[in-house]
Amino acid sequence: MVREGRCGVSCSLPTPENMTTHWNYPEPALQDELRKIANAIVAPGKGILAADESVSTMGKRLADIGAENTDENRRKYRQLLFTTCPTIGDYISGVILFHETLYQKADDGTPFPELLKQRGIIPGIKVDTGVVPLFGSQDECTTQGLDDLAKRCAQYKKDGCHFAKWRCVLKINEHTPSLLALEENANVLARYASICQANRIVPIVEPEILPDGPHDLERCQKVTETVLAFVYKALADHNVYLEGTLLKPNMVTAGQSATVKAGPAEVALATVTALQRTVPVAVPGITFLSGGQSEEEATVNLDAMNKFQGKRPWALTFSYGRALQASVLRAWGAKDANVKAGQDELLKRAKANSEASLGKYVAGSVEGKAGDTGLFVKNHAY
Ligand code: 13P
Repeated sequence: MVREGRCGVSCSLPTPENMTTHWNYPEPALQDELRKIANAIVAPGKGILAADESVSTMGKRLADIGAENTDENRRKYRQLLFTTCPTIGDYISGVILFHETLYQKADDGTPFPELLKQRGIIPGIKVDTGVVPLFGSQDECTTQGLDDLAKRCAQYKKDGCHFAKWRCVLKINEHTPSLLALEENANVLARYASICQANRIVPIVEPEILPDGPHDLERCQKVTETVLAFVYKALADHNVYLEGTLLKPNMVTAGQSATVKAGPAEVALATVTALQRTVPVAVPGITFLSGGQSEEEATVNLDAMNKFQGKRPWALTFSYGRALQASVLRAWGAKDANVKAGQDELLKRAKANSEASLGKYVAGSVEGKAGDTGLFVKNHAY
């Protein structure tokens, strides 16, 4: 209905007829399917291995161990991960794949998604096509990939993927995140989530606030609360079925170059408080990214959250890329003779994070090849 506003200009005001309260829940069968997938991913003691590095990011990981960025080296590395002994399925419930990896095979011809299924692991897929600058902003960005997303999701579902990831990036600066970045990234995440659900895929909603900068813990907490409030408003506006989603946020930490760092108990308090204030209880689980923390830091901080005395109505677990793979890469060193050594590192770290997701990790009890090396990458792209 168009009415005359007080300023004399015509504008649309909400009326009982045009308000957006008449919308449809997904069919019961779709709700069940999405909820079951999401719940399986965050089953007690389990989390996600993010192995969806793009070709160029994988190239950097390979360069670090002196290997060339070829299809074959990327295939061999992912084969190492996915042929780890079946015990890995006790700790890892899902693996996020990159498009290329979904269609690669092991030496014996077994497709990679099949190797995962044999281990009780659900294949997932990164569906965003990367970050692009927001014109006129202070170096802020949005994420693209919506145009053909429905078609790709339908195909990925047929090819065995039951969940997806889309990463948006927000930056903490004196004047950022801007309203534009908050609104744009929340909306694109919500649009992505609804397209996934329409195609029977559980969306992992990832609004990553980068750790770059000298900001303190409190500033990160406030930005995290603001970002998540925008995200959940957008998800509601897009009629997204929350029980069939997962959230992949940053932990609340002091900035990478902050003079005062926060310990695990402070990180746990700030992070859980931010989540309590913004994430509905309908969301089954929160699967943190590691965001440049060392392997041990990421485990200890997750453990502290699960030891935190207070309201935690969602599973709190991991969806780590760097913090599950740094030691694996070092131990492997792109040498066939070291495949088993690499797999042993993956098992150790996956078990440590499984314990942390239950609040049962003993700090320092698992030592990896990468030790406590920081894994921070400036302005990290994935
Ligand atoms: P890190 O754990 O390396 O931050 O990456 C996880 C991820 O999937 C980022 O999108």
